[in-house]
Amino acid sequence: MPTVEDLPRDIRDRIPGIAQVPGVVPRERPDGKSFIGGKATEYSAPQAKPAERPVAPEEPVPKEVKTPCQRCGVETESKQSFCSACGLDFKRKRATEELGITIDKEMVEQYIFTGYLTAAVKLFGEHVATFKSLQSDDVEKADEIVRLHFKDADSTVTEWQNYRAKVLLAFGWAKLDGVTTGKDFEEKFAWIQKRGAHFVDLASKKYALLSQAISEVLNGDTLKNS
Ligand SMILES: [Zn+2]
Repeated sequence: MPTVEDLPRDIRDRIPGIAQVPGVVPRERPDGKSFIGGKATEYSAPQAKPAERPVAPEEPVPKEVKTPCQRCGVETESKQSFCSACGLDFKRKRATEELGITIDKEMVEQYIFTGYLTAAVKLFGEHVATFKSLQSDDVEKADEIVRLHFKDADSTVTEWQNYRAKVLLAFGWAKLDGVTTGKDFEEKFAWIQKRGAHFVDLASKKYALLSQAISEVLNGDTLKNS
């Protein structure tokens, strides 16, 4: 196909849009094409700078919610179920939660300096047990009582555990609905023996939870900023 260059020079010079002098920017044709050096060439007209997209003022990016671990304080994603630093199980219900009690700093101070703390724990309905936490010599005495009790008898592990739980409970169960359960271990134990077995079992479980709650607090699991 013949191009402009094939035309005689004098005719070429009369065609508008052809660069007469090298280096002269060719005129733009309405279709965006230009003739450069007599050849049809794509010519890209300077594009209008696209309007800058309006920048939204700091779009709220959904942040990972982080909470400090109650035990070690390391910030952890709250959707995690374990602390990646110390392994604390976040999903587990704390013993204090299960008991519906709070062990505050004052109680911890009492525990540290007197060797025990007392806590009022709801047992069933409106019935409240006042428990005194165990001291080391309570545990020693309890173990001795259990040992003597099973001295001449065979026992299963369950029997042994149940009896021990009841003995420990007698050391720790101070009051029921504000009324004392007895003046010493013997009276308390006798009082417990006369209660309904399921009720005693319930009290035992709650008492074991109190022990657990104290351990949790001393390990720093539940006492932060309280
Ligand atoms: Zn931790």
